[in-house]
Amino acid sequence: MVEHVETNSVATGSGTNASTTTTNGSPTSPAASTKTFSTHPHLFLVHSSPNFQSKMTATTHFTPNTVLLSFADTMTPVPKPSYTTVQISTTEHIELNSNLVYLNHSCDPSCVIDTVKKEVRVVREVREGEELTFFYPSSEWDMDQAFDCWCGSEKCLKRIQGAKYLTVDQLQHHYLNNHIIELITASLHGLPR
Ligand SMILES: [Zn+2]
Repeated sequence: MVEHVETNSVATGSGTNASTTTTNGSPTSPAASTKTFSTHPHLFLVHSSPNFQSKMTATTHFTPNTVLLSFADTMTPVPKPSYTTVQISTTEHIELNSNLVYLNHSCDPSCVIDTVKKEVRVVREVREGEELTFFYPSSEWDMDQAFDCWCGSEKCLKRIQGAKYLTVDQLQHHYLNNHIIELITASLHGLPR
């Protein structure tokens, strides 16, 4: 995996970044309304604020391929997807039941969610204080709630609603779980999905 230099690059000319109604990358609320907590304070901190503007940040320095947290022992199956669930196969969805639910999406993520090993791994160098994120379409085929992404990456896909709505070109440089690859393949061959 190529190591990315964190640049927080300036917008690349497509849009103004003026929105105040986003779920990621938007201007933060005054600190007074933000609560912080963590089940694993030596690894991460959750910053929870109103209007779904929560995020998880690293409290230590991570090197690539470090396991952040397993969800094998906390997850529970659910019958259908919601904004808090993770898809773990072509048909199964789970609740994480842990602080991992606060991981935001990024189009240039610092983590991956591995739905076979049931763990989240940090995939590049992450400094203390940096946000921990993963690429939602790497596990989600057709999301319950789509949203506009303002992650600020020059690779930002803008509209996030699941891998089903992205092209192979948009997906090919991302870590993808096997069930997403299966669903893409079925879709390319015109099979039911
Ligand atoms: Zn984005």
